[in-house]
Amino acid sequence: MAFTNLHTSIEYLKGVGSARADILRKELGIRTMSDLLHFFPNRYIDRTQFFKVNGLLQNSAEVQVVGKITNIKTVQQKRGSRLVATFSDDTGSMELVWFKGVKWIKESLKINTPYVAFGKVNWFNGTFSMPHPELELVKDYKKSLQSAMQPVYPSTELLSKKGITNRVVAKIMQNLFLEVGNKFQETLSEDVIKELNLLSKSEALFNIHFPQNQRLLTRAQQRLKFEELFFIQLQLIRKNMIHKTKIKGFVFDTIGTVFNTFYKNHLPFELTNAQKRVVKELRRDMSTGAQMNRLLQGDVGSGKTIVALLTMLIAIDNGFQTALIAPTEILANQHFTAVSELLSGMDIQVKLLTGSTKTKERRIIHEVLEDGSLDILIGTHALFEDKVQFKNLGLAIIDEQHRFGVAQRAKMWMKSPVGAAEGVPPVPPHILVMTATPIPRTLAMSVYGDLDVSVIDEMPPGRKQIVTAHRYDSNRLSVFKFMKEEIAKGRQVYVVYPLIQESQKLDFKDLMDGYESISREFPNPQYQISIVHGQMKAADKDYEMDRFFKGETQIMVATTVIEVGVNVPNASVMVIESAERFGLSQLHQLRGRVGRGAEQSYCILMTSFKLTSEAKTRMETMVKTNDGFEIAEVDLKLRGPGDLMGTQQSGVLNLRIADIVKDSIILKKAREMAFKILKKDPNLIDEKHRNIKRAYQEVTRGKAIWANIS
Ligand code: ADP
Ligand code: MG
Repeated sequence: MAFTNLHTSIEYLKGVGSARADILRKELGIRTMSDLLHFFPNRYIDRTQFFKVNGLLQNSAEVQVVGKITNIKTVQQKRGSRLVATFSDDTGSMELVWFKGVKWIKESLKINTPYVAFGKVNWFNGTFSMPHPELELVKDYKKSLQSAMQPVYPSTELLSKKGITNRVVAKIMQNLFLEVGNKFQETLSEDVIKELNLLSKSEALFNIHFPQNQRLLTRAQQRLKFEELFFIQLQLIRKNMIHKTKIKGFVFDTIGTVFNTFYKNHLPFELTNAQKRVVKELRRDMSTGAQMNRLLQGDVGSGKTIVALLTMLIAIDNGFQTALIAPTEILANQHFTAVSELLSGMDIQVKLLTGSTKTKERRIIHEVLEDGSLDILIGTHALFEDKVQFKNLGLAIIDEQHRFGVAQRAKMWMKSPVGAAEGVPPVPPHILVMTATPIPRTLAMSVYGDLDVSVIDEMPPGRKQIVTAHRYDSNRLSVFKFMKEEIAKGRQVYVVYPLIQESQKLDFKDLMDGYESISREFPNPQYQISIVHGQMKAADKDYEMDRFFKGETQIMVATTVIEVGVNVPNASVMVIESAERFGLSQLHQLRGRVGRGAEQSYCILMTSFKLTSEAKTRMETMVKTNDGFEIAEVDLKLRGPGDLMGTQQSGVLNLRIADIVKDSIILKKAREMAFKILKKDPNLIDEKHRNIKRAYQEVTRGKAIWANIS
């Protein structure tokens, strides 16, 4: 049978018309019949249950009462008037109240005729009242197709103002189904439907709008959630596959002297199994002839730096230059120091380029980059400048990637002129982005679903758990005492203050006040204190950091500039002031600054006494676990996906019905199924995938999903 064209404007649907169509489009983005069909209720109300007036409770939600209107009066009030109807059943009376449309409603009400009144009740002055009830004559109510679960559609202020109530939307929906019949094109293959025991598309759409019972409603929701997630996964996975076949990359097929010499003679420790596995994954990626585009996740302290270095050595063995980019100068410095140390005694050229690099040194760097004699360039975003050109950049590693945008990653592609001379497009370097912010699996699957992901899920051996405690400001003296004890043992201490853009001045004052009180408590010359904050010159910051690094100072008072990557193994205590103002991932990052040496380390979360329940959960989570992935999961639940790193730009989270936190099992199934299908039939040409192909083309129409860079 022929299907009605669902791309027709809803304007032509009975009960809509051009005015309503206009509002529905502007307010809800609904243009076509198909849009309307996929406009899903966000909850359902049980309309099989009726209340008696004397059975109403003061905190009842929406209720349904059968009764008769026995009296109507208009009450004048400051602005306009309100209409009050006495509504009675055999157990008592309540009031129905209207503030708007009073005149019209008054004329339409029938006295002493049985009605079903539906709405939320208020308890006021000894009486229940129901403002703006949905009223239906009992005889009509019985006639209309009432299902147990009445859908409630999302609404907006303007919609209710313009009289497009939930009932109107439900009615329009009914008209849509009457018009097109309950026959909608299937979007999944028979195999998928069978294997996962899903409802058909038509059954699912019918039951999502007119649930016949709870069981069918649940199955309808599952089917539609699956479908939504499945087509996103299909796009992401396909994008990744296309990337691998279309984007040529350098082939690094040699593991040569440099790598082997380093591995045999210079590796300061044995790699963990996770590190070994990841190095293998990266090696494989770089040898396929396609460009590597991989995300490396590893909790703070899991040892990403050595993995980065080994990967760079592979590139060097194959005759290429490499770049390592960090988000801050402090971090770039640290990487430079660490890498130079690790490579000492080997003939590898390493240089550092940051905002504070002097002109003369810059000139040298440009030269050795372009003549190819520099092997490794470490630096900050200064590397992104157009002037910085490599002879043959083969690999770019970006640390702590959430600080950099997609556009910047893209810039690295143009750094290498290899191939350009022959008039062919340059071959892009392999790209590895590293992040210490663990991304919950569900989020990784949906936001980074087109990237390959490696995970270091094992800590180097002998690492002690950091003991974390939550203390109130009133316990400050005992915290000071504890700091003194640790310093007496030769340890160093961080004290960190928040610095939030919006309250910079106040925060700065807090930091300075804190610094002063610590200076009083820890007097010179017995104690030396460093201070680092954003308003200092880079050179001063470095100087202070360096003093702390060398152990010349015992206490580092700082704002969150030290959040990322800083490595001072002798520091064993992290005191976080106003900890309630930090998000979970930030707290976890800060805590990761200690516990880097052999000593038992501590993290003390200082807060005021009054905490929101969310802040309490954050503190409890920190006290309970050191596991970054567990913390990320809690964070995702507390804040929702919208606020987490990297999700804003992705757009894949504008979901209609699925929820990546609550529907993680369905998400996993959707991803597995999409993989399975594309692996066998990457272009969906198999006849049995025709439904999927048609729907896929529909969802991707007009979208630049093939952009080369993720
Ligand atoms: P992150 O993943 O946070 O960047 P780093 O690379 O800075 O972690 O490593 C943290 C510390 O652990 C460093 O001092 C490093 O030398 C050490 N480390 C890394 N891997 C190992 C290992 N396999 N065995 C012992 N120590 C290791
Ligand atoms: Mg690091």
